[in-house]
Amino acid sequence: MKLQEFHAKTLLKSFLREKIPFPDFEVAETPEAVFDAAKRMGKPVVIKAQVLVGGRGKAGGIRLANSPEEAKEKAEAIFQLRIKNLPVKKVLVTESVDIAEEYYLGIVLDRRNRCYTAMACSEGGVDIEELAARSPEKIVKYSINPTEGFPPFLARKICFSAGFPAFLVPSIASIFSSLYDSMLHFDADLLEINPLVRTKSDRISALDCKMTIDDNGLIRHAELLTYREIAEEDLLEREAREKRIAYVRLEGNVGIVGNGAGLVMCTMDAVKAAGGKPACFLDLGGGSRAEVVRSALEILLKDQNVRSIFINIFGGITRGDEVAKGLIQVYNELAPKVPIVIRMAGTRSQEGLQILQKTPFITARAMQEGAKRAVELSEGG
Ligand code: GDP
Ligand code: MN
Repeated sequence: MKLQEFHAKTLLKSFLREKIPFPDFEVAETPEAVFDAAKRMGKPVVIKAQVLVGGRGKAGGIRLANSPEEAKEKAEAIFQLRIKNLPVKKVLVTESVDIAEEYYLGIVLDRRNRCYTAMACSEGGVDIEELAARSPEKIVKYSINPTEGFPPFLARKICFSAGFPAFLVPSIASIFSSLYDSMLHFDADLLEINPLVRTKSDRISALDCKMTIDDNGLIRHAELLTYREIAEEDLLEREAREKRIAYVRLEGNVGIVGNGAGLVMCTMDAVKAAGGKPACFLDLGGGSRAEVVRSALEILLKDQNVRSIFINIFGGITRGDEVAKGLIQVYNELAPKVPIVIRMAGTRSQEGLQILQKTPFITARAMQEGAKRAVELSEGG
């Protein structure tokens, strides 16, 4: 789950007791409220669109204003924007800072190396992506050993290698190290301060904050659920969550359904191996009854990218005949236009396959065979 900048800043402020120097801010939902906030602050402010995408600066979603009147005007313009197709409903009004230099600090969950990786760069700001593509060597990376953690002495090493001014290294390192503590505490998989700036008066200030929480960790952070931005999530993923189905939307066009996460993963691999691209990961879970099968297909059929569906069921507690009945019921109600391939094994799979004879469902005995057929069908074959 991605957090809005103001949520991330609020969270870190309270958790770290002001260890990260975020400039003061208020959140506003109307140009009038922006005017009032700017007036209260009594100095130049920056108005920042709160949307869950990067590149707000380049999209015109971040504007400087020298007076409350100007703040109101700029806010009017920002509320009109759509940034990467998202409407702007809230803005952050924050004290403007005189920037001398922009730096980048980030920590991400690094799946390849199975650890958190810390990243630092003395050339931060809105062009960090281009820099990463053009001169990746300028971004210093360090894989954090979980038993060692990321104490300030390690963070200092990284900060020196990144070329931060020596007199600022102790304070930047302590921020860096506390970012790591926060990630562990909140089960975050990304935490980024870009830019972290040196001000013209040689202070450090954290202007932006991006934070993503691992959804699987949310069970331990019920308080964060109120931060979820319903409007900006994938609607199908939301529907699945409400129906208690484990569903992750992907970019391909073969809808994949199975019972049990391991089997679904395997099925995705089989589809990939057959040259196809999964449109989703969808796990029916154990004991899948007709309603669950129905809800799952309802979700898949709403996804415009799905060209074929491959259902792979291993019957344990789940019974093949239950699944088959569910499928036929769905077929009668939803009349799906995309072809559906189904492979079943285990408990009552013979009965299940029997029920599916003489229906439009395409049955397969083996997983590879089913995957191959589903991929061909997704390509119109
Ligand atoms: P992003 O584009 O979504 O990452 O938004 P950021 O919060 O990182 O802001 C983008 C850019 O706006 C920063 O890199 C700064 O150059 C500029 N900016 C943000 N806050 C301030 C500020 O208080 N003063 C000044 N002068 N520039 C700012
Ligand atoms: Mn930024």
